[in-house]
Amino acid sequence: MAPEADAQPAPVIIVGAAMGGLRTAEALRKAGYTGALTVIGEEIHAPYNRPPLSKDALSTGVTHEAVAFPQRPATADVDWLLGVRVSSASLAAKTVTTTDGVSHPFRALVIATGIRPRRVIPSVSEGPRSLSGRHTVRTLDDAMALRDELVPGARVVVAGSGFIGCEVAATATKLGCEVTVVSPSSRPIIRPLGPVLAAELQRRHEAHGVLFRLGRSIAVIEGDTRLTGIVLDDGSRLAADVLVEAIGSDCNSDWLAGTGLDIANGVLADAGMRAIDVDGNAHDDVYVVGDIARFPNALFDDVARRVEHWNIPTDTGKRAGAVLGAWLAGDAAFTEALALPFTPMPAFWSNQFDIGIQAYGLPGLADSIRQLEGDLAGDCIFGYYRGTRLVGVVGLGMKAALLPYRQQIATAEAEAATTAR
Ligand SMILES: Cc1cc2nc3c(=O)[nH]c(=O)nc-3n(C[C@H](O)[C@H](O)[C@H](O)COP(=O)(O)OP(=O)(O)OC[C@H]3O[C@@H](n4cnc5c(N)ncnc54)[C@H](O)[C@@H]3O)c2cc1C
Repeated sequence: MAPEADAQPAPVIIVGAAMGGLRTAEALRKAGYTGALTVIGEEIHAPYNRPPLSKDALSTGVTHEAVAFPQRPATADVDWLLGVRVSSASLAAKTVTTTDGVSHPFRALVIATGIRPRRVIPSVSEGPRSLSGRHTVRTLDDAMALRDELVPGARVVVAGSGFIGCEVAATATKLGCEVTVVSPSSRPIIRPLGPVLAAELQRRHEAHGVLFRLGRSIAVIEGDTRLTGIVLDDGSRLAADVLVEAIGSDCNSDWLAGTGLDIANGVLADAGMRAIDVDGNAHDDVYVVGDIARFPNALFDDVARRVEHWNIPTDTGKRAGAVLGAWLAGDAAFTEALALPFTPMPAFWSNQFDIGIQAYGLPGLADSIRQLEGDLAGDCIFGYYRGTRLVGVVGLGMKAALLPYRQQIATAEAEAATTAR
């Protein structure tokens, strides 16, 4: 059912004022929605771009101005409530409540609250989380605080060898720090890249002076008010001035407890980005976008997944804005919008030292990996196969040469989907 005409309808509320929230607001306006639109965000900053926070902005100095997204005219009349956290929601009452106790009615709700870094929890003892020298890298404020401590000679331990851990390791090394990466993995970034490319990446990091303690985790964080060292699970100790915790993330879905939505891993959505509840019902007035969205992508299969890549907040925001905009406009437009296919191509890049990594598809789905082009010690392309089908491609350099493989992923999967019907 389309919403009833109302003299002063409640606004559409977007919770999360970052890339996913911004792109949804823009798409809603593009879809023709001219009504009230409120974006509520916990951070005090207007939406900004996160990838530079572990790369160039971290090495050159971090400012909001340098990373802020431009404000487009379409969203000039959006009501931004920044520095405000939503603590709960009621889908029955159609309200969200902020931590100051204010209840905000909504006509439709968009969930764009993303993820937060998981903290290292040592098994033996844990220094206070506020211990100076302990850092995460998710927000602009995080990056500003870390930047101040990455001084030449600082002894930096990076916990975690995923993309963000490796990017911070490279940036800190370039700034003159002594960097050790500690990770239970056998190689850095091994899950998406596979053993051969991951070993090559480790070799290149080591050539720049990064030390790796792989197959190890942190048992004790030492320090009283200031971090002094790390004890690993084999009993060895690393003196440390800075610890960067980059061991993964948790979803910001706590405020949705009790709503009945499926928040088992992020928030479950259908291909129209409508939120799904634990009984399997899609909510026409509740949408999910960005890192927190667990949604199916027919480009691969019908399994709902979260994809923490930069293009996903934009693609899901555009999709949610178009579908919600159609729902607000009326039944026929909504049915048509929902029927359109939604098959975003996951895309990821990373810069570490002079290595430019670009990936398309979902390499993590592969059961076999082949080198397709180039020289492992230089620029090269690896293909990731599920059975005989290319599901992902990763390039070190060779950006332009990757594009035909990107096309192949899209085409092969589309052909397979057609055959299956
Ligand atoms: C350091 C770093 C480097 C990255 N580098 C790359 C890269 O090189 N390539 C790539 O493809 N991707 C990269 N990414 C990933 C990419 O930036 C993310 O996919 C993207 O930022 C996700 O956007 P989002 O809007 O979904 O969520 P987020 O950016 O997490 O935004 C969610 C917002 O919601 C707010 N919020 C949370 N809970 C509440 C609440 N209860 N009430 C109000 N507000 C709330 C948060 O404060 C936050 O501002 C990187 C990410 C980081 C952190």
